[in-house]
Amino acid sequence: MRKVIIIGGGAAGMMAAISASKEGKKVLLLEKNEKLGKKLFITGKGRCNITSACDPDEFLNHVATNSRFLYSSFSRFNNHDVVRLLNDAGLKTKVERGQRVFPQSDHSSDVIGTLKRLCDRNHVEILYHAKVEKILLHDHEGVSGEKNRSFSGVQLSDGRVIQGDSLIIATGGCSYTSTGSDGDGYRLARELGHSIRPVYPSLVPFIMKETWCRDLMGLTLKNISIRVKNGKKVIYEGFGEFLFTHFGVSGPLVLTASTCLGKYQKALEAGQLTLLLDLKPSLTMEQLEKRYLREFDTYRNKNISNVIERMLPRKMVPVFLREAGVPEDKKVRDITKKERRRMEELMKGMEMHITGVRGFEEAIVTRGGVNVKEVSPTTMESKLVDHVFFAGEILDVDAVTGGFNLQIAWSTGYTAGYSA
Ligand SMILES: Cc1cc2nc3c(=O)[nH]c(=O)nc-3n(C[C@H](O)[C@H](O)[C@H](O)COP(=O)(O)OP(=O)(O)OC[C@H]3O[C@@H](n4cnc5c(N)ncnc54)[C@H](O)[C@@H]3O)c2cc1C
Repeated sequence: MRKVIIIGGGAAGMMAAISASKEGKKVLLLEKNEKLGKKLFITGKGRCNITSACDPDEFLNHVATNSRFLYSSFSRFNNHDVVRLLNDAGLKTKVERGQRVFPQSDHSSDVIGTLKRLCDRNHVEILYHAKVEKILLHDHEGVSGEKNRSFSGVQLSDGRVIQGDSLIIATGGCSYTSTGSDGDGYRLARELGHSIRPVYPSLVPFIMKETWCRDLMGLTLKNISIRVKNGKKVIYEGFGEFLFTHFGVSGPLVLTASTCLGKYQKALEAGQLTLLLDLKPSLTMEQLEKRYLREFDTYRNKNISNVIERMLPRKMVPVFLREAGVPEDKKVRDITKKERRRMEELMKGMEMHITGVRGFEEAIVTRGGVNVKEVSPTTMESKLVDHVFFAGEILDVDAVTGGFNLQIAWSTGYTAGYSA
């Protein structure tokens, strides 16, 4: 019986083990940690947003990098397939706001338990504390006499050598390194001759030049819209929830915006990217002006801070008026038309400057990784070394939040296991 070795017992590795074993292969899963799915355990704040219940035709629209590469593996094993597999194995699931699929129990451990049970049922052998140090190859001649390299085995950090017929590398990216995915797989892939697209943190908070963010730390703005711009060009536009932190800004809206920075890495490093906050997205400029005039008429003898407080969270008022250059204790009746205009414009487009993003230790996913041009999209097999496959976040693919990143791991893992 052909033996498939899988490196990495995360989402992609476990799914690969299940599909390879279902195809009748003898499977050995190597995990350097003491247990499987350490990163899976912390997903979705411990609840695990397994996938999205979206229409499969829409799925690829949520993939930020190399979506086309995923077409084939997603067609083989899509978001409905993974839910069906887990449901059939006894895991109850539910769909929440934004079509996010979670286990009904709200415990990621139940997802891991179900995958582990499927591995056990299919006699997958699991070795813990098994860190792969080296991939062993042998040369052979192809049908037309060309020299090919093919997988032969792996060497563990304790020196043990394990032989196999094919290999699936599912070692993850390099964010949240304490979970085990520390970028080791990139070194292994590089040693095989694969090129690695530069890796950056993604789904990650922004660091801002404006030090006043610190004054607003902890403040969440719901239902606002943001635009990220490179010079005049809008590179991201979105609506949702936004959070101020001691270093800048975060929250779902910002994390999603960070997935668009791929093409703008140089502009980001040069400090050219700006973020515009629309604090009143439901109002047009004309409607906002009318609102100001109404408020000004009613509260003529009040301080301007009292009026702004009616339109923005109290914590934001001092920062807003400072940015608008209007003293907090100025009487409404004394506000000039120019000052009013400035406040209206600021409310529709408060400009901030992005100086960078936070590091891998805070990034939900890694952008970059094994160059997908060197991997077959239909089988996940390496185009450089025979019988070596890749699956999951190690590949140069990433998506927005909502269960899409785990779905990438499920689809590519399933395909690699099926093909290996
Ligand atoms: C805080 C957080 C929350 C998230 N929440 C969600 C969510 O709710 N929904 C969603 O879709 N996505 C979420 N993600 C993203 C998602 O977790 C990852 O995209 C996914 O886990 C990637 O799966 P993977 O199998 O490729 O890698 P991983 O899950 O990282 O697994 C890789 C495994 O390989 C092992 N390994 C590495 N090197 C070696 C080696 N040399 N030898 C042996 N073993 C090795 C590691 O120990 C690890 O167990 C979240 C990520 C984070 C950090």
